[in-house]
Amino acid sequence: MRNALNFNAGPSALPIDVLREAQQNLLDFNGTGMSIMELSHRSDVYGSIQQDAKSLLQKLLDIPPEFDILFLQGGASLQFSMIPMNLLSPNQTAYYILSGVWAEKAFNEAKKNGKTAILASSKDKNYNYIPSNFSIPDKNSAAFVHLTSNNTIYGTEWRNYPSFPSIPLVADMSSDLLSKKIDINQFDLIYAGAQKNLGTAGVTVVFIRKSLLERSKATLPAMLNYQIHSQNQSLYNTPPTFSIYILYLVLKWIDQMGGVNEMEKLNIEKATTLYETIDKSNGFFIGHAENNSRSRMNVTFNLVTEELTQKFLQEALDYGFIGLNGHRSIGGCRVSIYNAVPLSHVQILINFMDEFRRKLQ
Ligand SMILES: *Cc1c(COP(=O)(O)O)cnc(C)c1O
Repeated sequence: MRNALNFNAGPSALPIDVLREAQQNLLDFNGTGMSIMELSHRSDVYGSIQQDAKSLLQKLLDIPPEFDILFLQGGASLQFSMIPMNLLSPNQTAYYILSGVWAEKAFNEAKKNGKTAILASSKDKNYNYIPSNFSIPDKNSAAFVHLTSNNTIYGTEWRNYPSFPSIPLVADMSSDLLSKKIDINQFDLIYAGAQKNLGTAGVTVVFIRKSLLERSKATLPAMLNYQIHSQNQSLYNTPPTFSIYILYLVLKWIDQMGGVNEMEKLNIEKATTLYETIDKSNGFFIGHAENNSRSRMNVTFNLVTEELTQKFLQEALDYGFIGLNGHRSIGGCRVSIYNAVPLSHVQILINFMDEFRRKLQ
């Protein structure tokens, strides 16, 4: 029975319609007599799926023709390395905005590949806010600025992105891409592992401004070279065909649901109800993120004592809620409410939270 109340942070819930369609087509894809997983990645049938996934991304996010869309492997974590390897030259500095553990990891990989600097950090308050006020000392030698749009672990999210005229802006959007409308033109490179909001693990989506491709040096390993992936339409080697197929189904589902504007509306509704439950609890539930930095994708909170937090998590688990434990690096509770998590599941959780509080407060 498919009855899990799944609030996993990633891999995470998928739309039931997507799973049904994948199931229906699993043994015989479009009359080929084969599963999608058994098709050649050079076949027209597979090729059109990859092309449709690209076109749907273009449509849903209004991606202008100045951008190329790549489907890569190695997760968002490999992008931490690929970005500096391709975009940072020896006489330049890469600037990182540290807003959480994923940003730190990206920064640490960049350090191995050239000169780096921290542009801002919110580590002083355990990453409970989004940094602001940035000043770049030497704009001429800046290779790019890197930020993490949604901090999956701490539950903070950018509302307005900074702009650095003439310096490329790179964003890790692994946990909020397609959750809301964004202006792609503000960015030069965007990347996201698919397993949170876009589909299943195995494929990483990269939007890269074509003018940046010339920075990729021929001495790079081919698999780590954006230009090579671009020249080969993400078919330099065998792509993760099944993951790209699921991505395609998720994109089609978003489109049928009304696009990112509709997703954004639903996501605001889900997040608002949860934050209201926290705010009206008179300090029983304590939100981690500062109000103006709150994420609509990952809602993080604690209870007054560690003991009470554990009691809450245990009872939630017994009730059937999955994935409410905070990330192993910070503990507490985290509710991940990506696009595919229905409002009805959030409402069941809110009732449970209110009930738990009434019993003990
Ligand atoms: C999950 C996550 C990552 C890591 O993704 P992998 O695909 O596992 O490498 C990186 N950045 C953010 C913001 C994430 O949420």
